[in-house]
Amino acid sequence: MSNQMKALVKARPEPGLWMEHRPVPEIGPDDVLIRVRKTGICGTDIHIWNWDEWAQKTVPVGLIVGHEFAGEIVDMGRQVDGLSIGQRVSGEGHLIGKTSRQSRAGKFHLDPATRGIGVNEPGAFAEYLRLPAFNVVPLPDAIDDEIGAILDPLGNAVHTALSFDLVGEDVLVTGAGPIGIMAASVARHVGARRVVITDLNDDRLALAAQVADVVTVNPKRQSLAEIVSHLGMKEGFDVGLEMSGSQVALDQMVEALVMGGRIALLGIPPGKSPVDWSRIVFKAITIKGVYGREIFETWYKMIAMLENGLDVRAVITHRMPADAFRDGFETMRAGSSGKIVLDWT
Ligand code: ZN
Repeated sequence: MSNQMKALVKARPEPGLWMEHRPVPEIGPDDVLIRVRKTGICGTDIHIWNWDEWAQKTVPVGLIVGHEFAGEIVDMGRQVDGLSIGQRVSGEGHLIGKTSRQSRAGKFHLDPATRGIGVNEPGAFAEYLRLPAFNVVPLPDAIDDEIGAILDPLGNAVHTALSFDLVGEDVLVTGAGPIGIMAASVARHVGARRVVITDLNDDRLALAAQVADVVTVNPKRQSLAEIVSHLGMKEGFDVGLEMSGSQVALDQMVEALVMGGRIALLGIPPGKSPVDWSRIVFKAITIKGVYGREIFETWYKMIAMLENGLDVRAVITHRMPADAFRDGFETMRAGSSGKIVLDWT
């Protein structure tokens, strides 16, 4: 192994990312070194590429970006056990602290000291990644590298979809980006009766229909009230999964829910936005914010479902060598693609 590697770096404080040579990371006693094979481009990476306000105040210049990956363990620190060289793995990109109340209670995903690889710490868009062994998730044979590379966003989808019991329920998903589409697919897999997904972009709706057995609705052409009566739902949807960050979508969701309906919110609004709280109070709606993945319960459930027939592969619409990353980012920025997987081998 040469001690240099290719890595995609936020090399300058301006829009763009740059492929550079960096030293292969050195590992500590509790870390593993992973030879990265495939990575997924995330909406977060687009913010970093664009160098928007959030990225400027969060991401240090010079950082290796990327957090969605699959690869193979090629080196391990001396304290690591239970893993082996040559093992195929993905992993949780949130590096947690161990001292907060929530962390001490075993609710690792709620640790306020969490740092993200590819956002605060060196990331996975590189030939090699250092990761604490604690964060490693071994991949069974049933999960190949490209699915392994999208377990992070699939985990967001699974965490959101499993926030509430969906068995026999009618579910509304607002936002047909890759995570919304995968959440709709998970909702079907776990036994929701009807799943409706909305988006203003017809390309995304077409992709949703390809990936999952769902009813697609473009609110520009059809109201949710029409759909509710057309599908024979008595009083509306039981559960809403808000994946778009759109205030309009959230309002429409609240209107379309039954009394006592439940909403899981993963979409991030662009800033502060007005909410019709009295409507939410009078409809007795429960709202849950969703962040990341439960460590490691979401991973366990997600892998079990993939082994048991959950199929989200069609959400990957583009595959390309890492050196063609510019094409990948341009395609993502155009806004109609599904997941884009980069190959680092
Ligand atoms: Zn991501």
